[in-house]
Amino acid sequence: MAFPENFIQELIDRNDIVDVIGSYVNLSKRSGANLFGLCPFHNERTPSFAVNPSGQFYHCFGCGKGGGVINFIMEIENLSYPDAVRHLAARVGMEVPDDGYDKDSKRRARLLELNRDAAKFFYEQLSAPDGQNAVRYMRERGISPQTAKRFGLGCAPDSWESLRKAMAEKGYSDFELFDAGLVKRGQRGGFYDTFRNRLMFPVIDVRGDVIGFSGRILGGDGAKYMNSPDTLVYNKSRNLFAMNLAKKSKNGYLLLVEGNVDVVTLHQAGFDSAVASLGTSLTPEQARLMSRYTKEVIIAYDSDGAGQKAAQRAIGILERLDLKVRVLRMTGAKDPDEFIRMKGADAFANLLKDSENQVDYRLNTVKAKYDLSLDDQKVSYLKEASELLASLPGQVERQVYAIRVAGEAGIGQDAVIREVERRRKILLSRLKKDYERDITRPEKAVQPAERTMRYSNPGAAAAEEGIIRLLYLEPALVREELPGAKEFSSEALGKIYSVIKAAIESGTSVSVNALAPKLAQEEMNLLVRIIQKPERLSESRSILADYVRRMREEQDRKGGSEDLKALSEKLRKEKGFRP
Ligand code: ATP
Ligand code: MN
Repeated sequence: MAFPENFIQELIDRNDIVDVIGSYVNLSKRSGANLFGLCPFHNERTPSFAVNPSGQFYHCFGCGKGGGVINFIMEIENLSYPDAVRHLAARVGMEVPDDGYDKDSKRRARLLELNRDAAKFFYEQLSAPDGQNAVRYMRERGISPQTAKRFGLGCAPDSWESLRKAMAEKGYSDFELFDAGLVKRGQRGGFYDTFRNRLMFPVIDVRGDVIGFSGRILGGDGAKYMNSPDTLVYNKSRNLFAMNLAKKSKNGYLLLVEGNVDVVTLHQAGFDSAVASLGTSLTPEQARLMSRYTKEVIIAYDSDGAGQKAAQRAIGILERLDLKVRVLRMTGAKDPDEFIRMKGADAFANLLKDSENQVDYRLNTVKAKYDLSLDDQKVSYLKEASELLASLPGQVERQVYAIRVAGEAGIGQDAVIREVERRRKILLSRLKKDYERDITRPEKAVQPAERTMRYSNPGAAAAEEGIIRLLYLEPALVREELPGAKEFSSEALGKIYSVIKAAIESGTSVSVNALAPKLAQEEMNLLVRIIQKPERLSESRSILADYVRRMREEQDRKGGSEDLKALSEKLRKEKGFRP
């Protein structure tokens, strides 16, 4: 394990999970062994996020997230395992042991060093003959040398191995370059530069490390943009381009745009809080990263259909984190870069001032679909608008907008307000029903939250979960006769099982915190859900044997029941027969 076990043990002892989580979540309700609060990882109104003080773990019955105190910090602060450990150590003033830097941290440090050297190389090309086409390109697009310097922009020459050679001189191996995504492997086994003839944008994280690159093509064939693959130090979905600069902005809001060039142009024009997602649509992790630095996000996506659709999606993701969201409407230009070049920074500042809050934006989008001078379209408009307003949590907000909608449609305010409240009631009772069904329906409850881990054989999986639970709660059972991990019908459960078994056999402690570095977050969520369920420990040996037997029986039965299912399906199709 990366950190010495006694260090981790002390870290966990001193960072009580209730204290740590309590500083993020109001844990006001107690029920049985658990404290409950509103889940910080999904949007909810009834607390289903449980913290178990005696087991020192958390588990959300709504979204399925769970783990120990280290997992919690990883999730909520968007940190890697070692960084979460350092974060918790700092919280209680513990010193992190030097040898806690494992192999991965060394490799990580080396990759960051390589990325920095590569960025330097790309930047230096701007003063070399090979980089003159990039210099010309930036001049054409109005990017000044100071801006290029501030972003560390550079040029990947039109050559197969100029970076590879330069980095070899600095002592980096082809394999290190490969791990950084800076070279690719050719068909005959050699390596060649990934980025060629491109304007290079280094991606720098909030700590100031160069973690990856985006390259825009300067001419010829090929994809317009090429991005670093995910590496040990780079995860596209957890980072935003220019967040390192935007986090220092005094604007009080972040400006979310689509393109790297948009970001660069905006910063140059004085809008220094612009960021872009890195060639992906906005992810919840990116939204959470933003929420650490701001309370308000203004979306300025491309004005085309795709951009507007992406904006709608982004609104949903940002709102879940309680961020105030406004949307900018651009006309006469396809993106902020073009807008500023055509109309200037002042015009853009006006757009910002007029940017609509998301309710205005969505209402206007609905309104634009209908011709309000026609009665039947007016009715459709009112229907769609009241449905939208019904979803707003605040009553005052619903009223204010209902009055506006009434004015636009030219009908009485009271009628619209009543209609919105009527739909609100229906919506709430539907939500409540969904919730109740979800918690009472066993076949739903038995499945893991993560889709890719769904059980193909729920009966066998229930027994497999039991084996895991017993082994976790009573490690001495490892001496009993146990099945092999390969026997498990669910791959995820087999993995969790073998990790726990290996930990017991090697004498390390078995707790969610000790297992955290060995399990992916989804696997951890599943494990915590499993150990939450009640178990009779008094007769653990015979119950274990029972689980093992049931697992095998269910697996044997699976073949037969599949046939039955197929048969009844066939009957239903052919004769309308319902079994
Ligand atoms: P330009 O103004 O030069 O056309 P841009 O930065 O505005 O470039 P867009 O075409 O608007 O770029 O694309 C938005 C973003 O999507 C880019 O900055 C890039 O991160 C990503 N992207 C675009 N095309 C690709 C591609 N072919 N492969 C991967 N990512 C891409
Ligand atoms: Mn553009």
